[in-house]
Amino acid sequence: MTVKSSILIIEDEFTVRKFVHTALVEAGYAVLESETATEGLRLAGEHSPALLLLDLGLPDLDGVEVIRRLRQYSRIPIIVLSARTQESDKIAAFEAGADDYVIKPIGTGELLARIRVALRHATQAADDTPASLHVHTGELEVNLADRVVWRGKDIVTLTTSEYDLLALLVRNANRLLTDRFLTTQVWGDNSGRSLTQLRLTIAVLRRKLEENPTMPRHLLTEQGVGYRFSDQ
Ligand code: CA
Repeated sequence: MTVKSSILIIEDEFTVRKFVHTALVEAGYAVLESETATEGLRLAGEHSPALLLLDLGLPDLDGVEVIRRLRQYSRIPIIVLSARTQESDKIAAFEAGADDYVIKPIGTGELLARIRVALRHATQAADDTPASLHVHTGELEVNLADRVVWRGKDIVTLTTSEYDLLALLVRNANRLLTDRFLTTQVWGDNSGRSLTQLRLTIAVLRRKLEENPTMPRHLLTEQGVGYRFSDQ
């Protein structure tokens, strides 16, 4: 069987984690797991799993807070697995950005069905946004489908990492992406060296793409957090 998408489980209860892990592996998914929110968030940032199964009652942080933090940079489908049956808990989870809410205990068949649905929605959502593949704002034109960047009438020559970084930001236009997420995606780790590389690459991209690199209009810094591409 070929390995399908990887799924991250954040759940502190060993028996539930074990049950879910077994069900997912048998269905052909690769599984990452964590019993704390902190470790789970780290895994999500480093491995960009295709989907998250999230418990709400975690020892170090509430699950709803985990959703909020992830949603600052990621559209990963999130299925909440919770023992909490209150409407208010569900609403809080959905408002924070959860995609589905399942009350424990849950059977294997239903769990897998919900996962398939969430993954399918995520794929459709990605396909549904051709606009995000082509950004034209002022002098700058980025065509992700053809991997071409124009400034006015000139094609801009970019190195692979410059292009990868730009493409990541453009694909998530107007969303804040963290330093850690960007370095992990583009350079494969979040070491100090990669962070320096990130700062340098942003500076080069600004010189190549911005009318006024010292007062950037598109490649914006969120001090101490990360970067955002503004298509305005
Ligand atoms: Ca729990």
